[in-house]
Amino acid sequence: MPSNYIDRIKEQGIVGAGGAGFPTHVKLNSTPEIVIVNGAECEPLLRVDQQLMEFYGEDVVEGLKIALIQTGAEKGVICLKGKHHSAISNLKELTKNDKQIEIKIIKDYYPAGDEQQLVYEVTKKIVPLMGIPLDVGAVVINVLTAMNIARNVPVTERVITVTGEVKNPQTLIVPIGTSFRKLIEFCEGPRDESRYSMIVGGPMMGHVEEDWDAPVTKLTGAIIILPKEHHLIAKKTRKTQTDLQLTKAICCQCSYCTDLCPRNINGLNTEPHKVMRGLANEDPSALGAISSVVSCCDCQLCSLYACPMDLDPGKITNMVKQSLLKKGVKTEKIIPHEVDSLRESKLVPTKRLIARLDLSDYDVPAPLNQTLFESYSVKILLKQHIGVVASPLVSQGDTVTKGTLVGSCGDLLGANIHASISGKIISVTPDYIEIKA
Ligand code: SF4
Ligand code: SF4
Repeated sequence: MPSNYIDRIKEQGIVGAGGAGFPTHVKLNSTPEIVIVNGAECEPLLRVDQQLMEFYGEDVVEGLKIALIQTGAEKGVICLKGKHHSAISNLKELTKNDKQIEIKIIKDYYPAGDEQQLVYEVTKKIVPLMGIPLDVGAVVINVLTAMNIARNVPVTERVITVTGEVKNPQTLIVPIGTSFRKLIEFCEGPRDESRYSMIVGGPMMGHVEEDWDAPVTKLTGAIIILPKEHHLIAKKTRKTQTDLQLTKAICCQCSYCTDLCPRNINGLNTEPHKVMRGLANEDPSALGAISSVVSCCDCQLCSLYACPMDLDPGKITNMVKQSLLKKGVKTEKIIPHEVDSLRESKLVPTKRLIARLDLSDYDVPAPLNQTLFESYSVKILLKQHIGVVASPLVSQGDTVTKGTLVGSCGDLLGANIHASISGKIISVTPDYIEIKA
């Protein structure tokens, strides 16, 4: 039976639900010493993982156990924040007789859910530059991913927090492919797109989505509605050209961005102030070492919290990083420095971050609605994962039932795609499949 786990995880189209979308059957085809379930949920306002661990803890623990059997890892750890009391007591009760599984409580800081931070919290080891957790014997999976492994059915639903400028913030279980607009209406949000904007994902790493009819994917953890004039929307939609001009004009090289960069604090040499210096002076040699760029995890703490001049060193660093990676630039898998001895005092508390982002008014509960959201039409993207686009396996006019395999990547890197509702296929394109109930 254990030898079948990889096949069945692949068959069900399970991917990393934390946002990365890496196919889980590939990730678990490895031999780590430890498997960590990432329940840190560090993006402000999100209420998904904490409630899944509270209400569906059995599935989370079961998914972790399967991952342990599959990989042969000796130890499993579920890592979550101390403030999630109900989830902690539920998980502790469920694992009280299990010597292989530990419940690890961590501080409430951002970005605690970054794999680099999480692995350090659990193992005190640093994932090297250009490395992955497996380089230090760890595999990290998301809470919802663990649940999907346990449930062993096609991935057709996603759990998503809808919050911000909505009268009834909730965390909903929705068929994949449901449009954001329907969820906003259900949560009594605004209908006037001219005055409001939507962030898909968390406030820090999420993006502003202009199309309210865009569909939910396996990776969508939240939608946050904010007034268009909110600073976060203005900053996230600021033109890159403006960012570059502002960098040249007012970056004072105070280096606060580097001082508070979580990757720098962990000894990875990330130095956004040098990237800004290089750009401001149009001098590539001023960028610093390649490691100062490629180790950036795009957490945006430098841009949205640290910089006193309201510049965007995170965006700039990530832009330079992407262009270096495209050119094939590589660096050795090394750890340039020791972890900063002041690490603990430099961690940014989530509450303070929320205040800085001017999101305190929206920091409210979004209770889990356990009734499956009813969708009568869905638009299912054929790429919801890292790897190749899935090839459609159905044609216009076909009838499908919920769970029917409608897209496949074959033996290439990717994930299966299934019908999330029963109905008729009304269109098939290279990018998506539409189904009407
Ligand atoms: S914190 Fe802002 S002003 Fe200071 S060095 Fe970084 S980008 Fe420049
Ligand atoms: S976005 Fe900024 S703070 Fe985050 S890792 Fe990159 S450089 Fe560091």
